[in-house]
Amino acid sequence: MSMIYSAIPILRADPDLAQEWLPRILSRDYDPRDLPVSEKTGATLGMFMTEKQGGSDVRANTTYAVPGDDGHWRLTGHKFLCSAPMSDAFLVLAHTEGRGQSCFLVPRWRPDGTRNALFLQRLKDKLGNRSNASSEMEFHDTWGQMLGEEGRGIRVIIDMVIGNRIFCAMSSAGMMRQALVQALHHTTHRSAFQKRLIQQPLMQNVLADMAVETEACLALGLRIAHAMDQPDDPAEDALARIGTAVAKYWNCKRCPSLVVEALECHGGPGYVEESLMPRLYREAPVNSIWEGSGNIMGLDVLRAMSREPASMTAVLAEVERARGNDPRLDAAIDALRDELSDPEEIEARMRIVTELIALTLQGALLTHHAPSAVAEAFCASRLGPAWRGSFGTLPKGTDLEGLIERALPAA
Ligand SMILES: Cc1cc2nc3c(=O)[nH]c(=O)nc-3n(C[C@H](O)[C@H](O)[C@H](O)COP(=O)(O)OP(=O)(O)OC[C@H]3O[C@@H](n4cnc5c(N)ncnc54)[C@H](O)[C@@H]3O)c2cc1C
Repeated sequence: MSMIYSAIPILRADPDLAQEWLPRILSRDYDPRDLPVSEKTGATLGMFMTEKQGGSDVRANTTYAVPGDDGHWRLTGHKFLCSAPMSDAFLVLAHTEGRGQSCFLVPRWRPDGTRNALFLQRLKDKLGNRSNASSEMEFHDTWGQMLGEEGRGIRVIIDMVIGNRIFCAMSSAGMMRQALVQALHHTTHRSAFQKRLIQQPLMQNVLADMAVETEACLALGLRIAHAMDQPDDPAEDALARIGTAVAKYWNCKRCPSLVVEALECHGGPGYVEESLMPRLYREAPVNSIWEGSGNIMGLDVLRAMSREPASMTAVLAEVERARGNDPRLDAAIDALRDELSDPEEIEARMRIVTELIALTLQGALLTHHAPSAVAEAFCASRLGPAWRGSFGTLPKGTDLEGLIERALPAA
């Protein structure tokens, strides 16, 4: 779903393609038939960028395209991690002679009604995410239609990448919420030492801390998604540019540790396959790797800072609007400014910078919009001097029961 919808901005740039594909992409029908798209009621899309020697570094890709005799292109090469290979078409990067990487639409069926040359080598035996098939694919003289300008393929496909990144941020927030709900449910019904687990003070600290994290990550993802929805507003556009990398980095980093903690709340049953927790546990790391791993997000933030300074101006304007809401937030904004003003070894410090951007944005959002108990717990922990990172370490005075009450699903 992420890839299908993220491809829309690219397809919209070509009116003929948009006319053929968009109604089918936006259709509520899932049409599993293997037919030319013109005969289908619903269509899905994937993207093939990664090769053995080039995942993060897609410029190292070797798949190439040569002009065909029908005005389109023929691709040859091997792609190493191709998810959703049952899709009706794929956006693919391949280089053309002397011009660098270009972006191609590679459909399952050629326009003349014959099958396109897509050779599925094998399915990957993955750690998790097993309901989504991922494959290795070979192209031999495979038909492709170039999208955008020749040699500008990375620029073209980046719109899809950005859509996928916000998906990673939001689905990580969703997975955290699912894990939290499971933990709340289990601890509501399980008793130990004469009380329900949810009534035990130390368990309350763990649950409340996870609730704060889930809300902070959701707020961050939604704020950036809102910025993405306003491309005509330069400040929002600039915030979206850097914010997708920040939100993907931080939400995807927090998700696996929260899921582990939620699993632990179940004790032994959480480790048994009959519960949902093992599946969530295996799924949790995928968003952090796919579409740019943690370091790549940090490097992307650095790229945005240096090449598009308006993006950092937009971040600072956003957090400064919250100055005065909480002294710990003010101190965190100052710390972020200090980090940014020191160029020494900046590349090696980009996780620190990215994390600080995420935390100050979350602090600004929660002190603006969340109930005071949530904002207070966030600032006292994540922005306080003694944050330890592990869950269940909210300081004394935190309204643990209030936070849990807010997080419980409505009766
Ligand atoms: C379940 C799953 C589904 C996927 N589906 C698809 C798909 O449909 N289409 C597709 O194209 N790809 C897909 N991928 C591939 C994924 O996007 C790549 O694996 C990812 O981009 C990382 O590339 P890589 O595996 O080559 O790792 P590498 O690029 O070798 O990176 C390895 C590690 O080194 C770090 N690193 C790399 N460069 C630097 C640097 N300069 N400085 C510091 N650290 C660095 C990375 O952050 C990473 O942690 C999928 C991956 C998974 C796990």
